[in-house]
Order: sequence, then structure tokens, then C-alpha cells
Amino acid sequence: AVVTRFAPSPTGFLHIGGARTALFNWLYARHHGGRALLRIEDTDKKRSTQEAIDAILDGLDWLGLEYDDPPIFQSDRAERHAEVAHKLLDAGHAYKCFATPEELEAMRAEQRANKQPMRYDGRWRDRDPSEAPAGASFTVRLKTPQDGQTTIHDEVQGQVSVRNEEIDDYIILRADGTPTYMLAAVVDDHDMGVTHVIRGDDHLNNAFRQLPIYRAMDQIEGDWPDPTYAHIPLIHGSDGAKLSKRHGALGVDAYRDEMGVLSDALFNYLLRLGWGHGDREEITRAEAIELFDLSGVGKSPSRFDIKKLENLNGHYIREADDAMLAELVAAQIDGEVDTALLAKAMPVLKTRAKSTHELAEGAAFLVAKRPLAMTEKAAKLLDDESRARLSVISEALARENDWTSEALEATTKSLAEELELGLGKLAQPMRAALTGTTTSPGIFDVLVLLGREEALARLDAQAA
Ligand code: GLU
Repeated sequence: AVVTRFAPSPTGFLHIGGARTALFNWLYARHHGGRALLRIEDTDKKRSTQEAIDAILDGLDWLGLEYDDPPIFQSDRAERHAEVAHKLLDAGHAYKCFATPEELEAMRAEQRANKQPMRYDGRWRDRDPSEAPAGASFTVRLKTPQDGQTTIHDEVQGQVSVRNEEIDDYIILRADGTPTYMLAAVVDDHDMGVTHVIRGDDHLNNAFRQLPIYRAMDQIEGDWPDPTYAHIPLIHGSDGAKLSKRHGALGVDAYRDEMGVLSDALFNYLLRLGWGHGDREEITRAEAIELFDLSGVGKSPSRFDIKKLENLNGHYIREADDAMLAELVAAQIDGEVDTALLAKAMPVLKTRAKSTHELAEGAAFLVAKRPLAMTEKAAKLLDDESRARLSVISEALARENDWTSEALEATTKSLAEELELGLGKLAQPMRAALTGTTTSPGIFDVLVLLGREEALARLDAQAA
């Protein structure tokens, strides 16, 4: 059965690239009826923070990516990592390196000077540890293959090979006995039963270094099969450069809180970043689980396009349940709000909104209290002439028994005809008086949503 994992390092927020990796892993597991696991790679204690862990868990939860087990914390497993390092050591697949930091620095300086690639030269690979001074500290290095090449059949990149001489004997256990990421990730993936490693293609080089651990352990104890790899091209900005904050890329929480993006919209947007099914843009969660496979992941970097995200968000807002939207909007408004009224207003508010913030802005007139604050434009509109018209309008509407947008429209139109004025000459001051602004939903919808009493009171407050 398929087992995938998302393995973030909690050194920052859950950024868009990480969220997409999480999504692809999750979808692959769900599509194949397998298990999706989460591992927090918190071994770098200096850079890992609880705040980042919380932001990652919160972001995943908000996106609706639920995991089949509680998260595994890599730092809890240091003993197990060291145990595997010692197995490799005992079986001769790893060795102790007694080179001092100064010595290694001198080695690198020489390589730099000779314009050679900088890599450990294997100086302790075949040396007898008894040659080291008594009590000298050492690191444990993996004895990687020296000849031939290693080939990976990557589900996205295809067949990729590296000459083994390019892979040096890297450290798996530091001098203080702590494991390196390279070892820890492999041991954890094995112990968690991970079958598919799906991650950014910035990790492709690591795959060539990690495979020798699987192969050595498989020789020692069996049942350490190579995982299937899928290295996904990174996300680029609209200018083709690697995605950064400069392109408007934010943490997942910021899309929700600062941009007013719905979970469904970000889910769909992330899905389409590097994966495609024909030219389908709008794909629901259920369809995504049904359709997702690695064969649909493209080989070239996808481009982050904030306009696309906004449009998709507009689509999901129009599809969304009004009561749910009302709750989201209520949370953005200070003070007490009538969520039932907000829900009633949603069909009118959501026709053009591209974010929940725009919904909240649109809803502001509903929750505003008299005397209404006026925008500069609205205040300017309410000149003496307009105020005089408002009293005529208010009188006419007060006689209206049928407080529906059709009836109110008919009444206002016949009044406009009577006064020989265009409808706009009445609607503009009405809008200013009713909403305090010059932009709002249709004016008759506004009248209905405010209700007879409040609407007439607002008109009268500005009438002269
Ligand atoms: N912790 C690594 C990262 O956040 C991922 C390691 C992996 O997926 O193997 O980049």
C-alpha cells in the first residue's frame, strides 16, 4: 500500500511551495487508498520554533489535509538514528573520520584554489582507526560507492543518473553523536513505511546520497527497499525567478488572514500549480482525489499567478454556502453583528467579491450605525439639491407597502419619471444616504437588506 509523508522543517511558516508538496503527497495517498503521514523535521534546534510548528499544523488543518497518524517529531528519534549509524559502522558501510575541522578547512581551501569540486576526499575511508590519537573525536561517514553510477527512475523527472564519484562520503553522525538530516530522513522514511517520497526537486541531489543508506541497510538486515521518488519542479514567480516574497508569495495563514482566500480556493490553486488534467481549472476536492496522479505533474516549473488565485477565489466565494461566508465575514467585523442578516446579504455581496475582505467591505453598510460615517465622495454628493430629492424619495417609499426590490424599483422609477430625472439622479443620493459610500450592491437590494425602518431612517437623516 502507498504511504507518503510531508516532512517540513519548522524554521519558518508554511509557504506556498511547502503547502503544495503537502497537498501532492496527501492527494497521492488518498487517490491510492494509502496513508498520508506528517513528520516535523525539527533536528535543527536553533532554527526550529514552536511558532513555526503551530503555523504548519494550523495551515495544513485549514487546507483540509488531515493525516492518518499524529505527527512524528524527528528530534524524538535521535537514538534510533544513531543506532542505524552504528549498524552501518559495524558492517563496514560507514567509518569513523578523525579529520579535525582545521584539517578539513585546509582540504577545502586547496580544492578551491585548484578549482576542484569541494568534497570530502575519503582520507579516513581506508585508514585504521587505531591511527587516530587516543580519545580524538570523530564523525561517522557513509562509505558511498566510488565507481559506476546511480540511476533514479523518478516519477516526475524520469531517469536521472549521477556518477558515483560525484558523491562524497558524507557525515551521517556528527562528532557530538547527533544524526544529520541525510541519515535521519532515510531512517524515518524507512521506519514509517514510506513508499513514495514526493518533494521539491531541490532535493533530487539528496536522493542520490540517501539511496546508498537504503542499499547498505538492505544488505545488512533486508527489507530496506528503495522508495519511489517524485521530485516536483519548484514554483517560480511570474518573472521566471524562483518564488519569493517579492512575487507576493506568503505563508498559508496570510492567504487566509491577509488576502481573504477560502480554503477550497487555495486547495484548487495549489493543485493546479504543477499538476494538470487537460485544461480544467476548477476542480473540487473529491475530483482532485479521484484524478490526481504523478503522471499529471509537469516537468517544468510552474508560475505563481496571484490573479489566477484571486479569480479562483471569486469562483469559490460564489459557490460557497452563505451561512459559512457570513461567519467568516462576521469574524472580520468589530463588535456584534447579525450573522443571519449577513447570510441574507451574501447572494448580493458575493457576485463580484474576490476575497472575504471584499465581502466584509461590501457588508460594512449593513452593520454601520447611525449617524452613518460618510466617505468624502458620498458627502460631496449630498448637496442641497440631492438632500431635497431625498425627502421626496423618502416620502414616496414610506407609502410603499410591498418592501421588495421589484416594488421599490417600480416606485422609484415612476418617481423619477414624475420628476423628469434619470434614475441615477435619485439612486446616487440614495446610495450615499443608505451606505455612506458611492459604491454598493444594487440600491433596491440595499433597501431590502436594511429593512423598511432602518432604510427610511437613513434617508431621513440626510434629507432636507
Ligand atoms: N525537511 C525538508 C524540507 O523541509 C524536506 C526533506 C524531505 O522531504 O526529504 O525541505
